[in-house]
Amino acid sequence: MLDTEPTFRPAKRLAAQKVSEILQIGARASELKAQGHPVIVLGAGEPDFATPDNVIEAAHRAALAGQTVYTPLAGTPALRAAIAQKFKRENGLDYSPAEVIATAGAKQVIFNAFMATLDAGDEVVIPTPYWTTYSAMVDICGGVPVTVQCSGETGFKLTPEQLEAAITPKTRWLMLNSPSNPTGAAYSVDETLKLLEVLERHPHVWLLSDEIYEHIVYDDFAFVSPAALSPAIKARTLIVNGVSKAYAMTGWRLGYGAGPEALIRAMTVVQSQSTSNPCSIAQAAALEALTGPQDLLAERCASFRARRDLVVDAINAIEGLYCRKPEGAFYAFASCEGLLGSTTPEGKTLKSDRDFCAWLLEAAHVAMVPGAAFGLSPYFRISYATSEAELTEAMARITKACAGLVRP
Ligand code: PMP
Repeated sequence: MLDTEPTFRPAKRLAAQKVSEILQIGARASELKAQGHPVIVLGAGEPDFATPDNVIEAAHRAALAGQTVYTPLAGTPALRAAIAQKFKRENGLDYSPAEVIATAGAKQVIFNAFMATLDAGDEVVIPTPYWTTYSAMVDICGGVPVTVQCSGETGFKLTPEQLEAAITPKTRWLMLNSPSNPTGAAYSVDETLKLLEVLERHPHVWLLSDEIYEHIVYDDFAFVSPAALSPAIKARTLIVNGVSKAYAMTGWRLGYGAGPEALIRAMTVVQSQSTSNPCSIAQAAALEALTGPQDLLAERCASFRARRDLVVDAINAIEGLYCRKPEGAFYAFASCEGLLGSTTPEGKTLKSDRDFCAWLLEAAHVAMVPGAAFGLSPYFRISYATSEAELTEAMARITKACAGLVRP
């Protein structure tokens, strides 16, 4: 035993970082579950489907065939070629295998890119509400996140005027995430082109396009990668994607990026000195996912659409709540402004989206994440990647709980 415990001192770059609010809500939901409460969790950003059998079988075969050793840093030649083909087939984009990198999850594409490009004080424009990891990673890599509030009135989308006003000589990147986590909003071709016009006037700004939800879009919405709309922009775009959401493979940790070769080389240096290659077996699985049958993409998308309609209709039938119909992803982002100031049967006044979500978790046993966690209040995010039966039950509980509020 030591006389005095050593004091742990985190690095300054970590000082502002906290455990994610989403995880904290998940922990409270688990506690309530352990006490026997039937909690429904609409918090996690993870499809409830299983990884397809053909993908699991390919991984099994690869492991038995000895693909259990280091691979080239940026991924096996076969996987990089399959990723390049995917961009050609699905996005009409030409990339050579040297312009793509396979990583441990889409998260690592973004991390590699910021580590490889941000110097102290460099700015990254982040349309808000945003996936919280973006700003945390910019902070950790020494950059400055420049968040731009995108209101419900513009469908939570960045306008060209806002982009123009946010750009400074220090801007290195614009982050675009379409369809978006947390709002489900996706940019039309027209909206994208207007943003690209602004970027064309500012050649020092690069575009980081997170397209991980590209396959989950509804009502004839056609996803088009910004890089496919302008060769000049493609020359300074990094596309982020991965197999987590499209093929229900979150645990395999396999993402990929595509961009100019010099950038991919710099990102590979970061990867070489941190994780090395992504898991060899996950690479074999992703190769099968990208080159095997693709019918499941449309089937699963249709099932997500039915869930979206169920959730959005139920929320809009509750007085005081409002939800815009999202174009894609598996999130709905609803306003609870009309319920603020109401009093719960337990005598608590709901003053914020955090209050609203905390109350619904305790009183209705439905876990959702307040908009504040994503930088925009008073909203809440519903992840509807769960069964229709659970969603129906969750919506019934929310409806009943809200009917019991005493309005101001
Ligand atoms: N981008 C967005 C917008 C996401 O929502 C997520 C997952 N929550 C990721 C990237 C990361 O995906 P991966 O599991 O491949 O790291």
